[in-house]
Amino acid sequence: MKDHHHTHEPRLVTFEDCVRFHGHSCPGLASGYRAATAAMEALGVTRPEDEELVAICETDACGVDAIQIVAGTTAGKGNLIIRDYGKHAFTFFNRREGKAVRVTFHRKEKPKDPSVAALQAKVFSGTATDDEEAQYHELMHKATVDVLHAPAEEIMKIERVSMQPPEKARIFASVTCAGCGESVADAKTRIVNGKRYCIPCSEKIR
Ligand SMILES: [Zn+2]
Ligand SMILES: [Zn+2]
Repeated sequence: MKDHHHTHEPRLVTFEDCVRFHGHSCPGLASGYRAATAAMEALGVTRPEDEELVAICETDACGVDAIQIVAGTTAGKGNLIIRDYGKHAFTFFNRREGKAVRVTFHRKEKPKDPSVAALQAKVFSGTATDDEEAQYHELMHKATVDVLHAPAEEIMKIERVSMQPPEKARIFASVTCAGCGESVADAKTRIVNGKRYCIPCSEKIR
């Protein structure tokens, strides 16, 4: 009997796949794409279906979306951990071998061109003209292409790190909340006066 899960070829995830998921193309998404592909190469992981991989993202910005698509580490599977320290740093842990790499970015921080900052402010506040809008998108496009095509060592540092395996997502039993009657994971309930409540209900009681 054929096991379809183990016979198909690994699917190559492109940057366009990431753009489709994220909704737009941007330099942040490009760095997430570069980080995930570089880390997977360093860890010898090729299949995005590989659930042995865990990603720890030190940001909650655009790059995280590329990480989910490329590395297959998603919020729903529990193998995406966000520790938002506001850093463009991503650690990937391979459970099978207990090995991890941390990818950080060292883009040369050019002093921000005040005209670009002004342009960005206009675009974000919706007051930019069509020309300014186009000019801004052209700049973003250039920055994105730069990140996508720069030699790895020019923009990233990929280091092996040693760490404890992140805790596995556990499957919890469900119970019925004494307040709203909705089903809720046991571990997420609060006991008030001997009864189990979901968190929002327990907060209403107090
Ligand atoms: Zn973005
Ligand atoms: Zn409730």
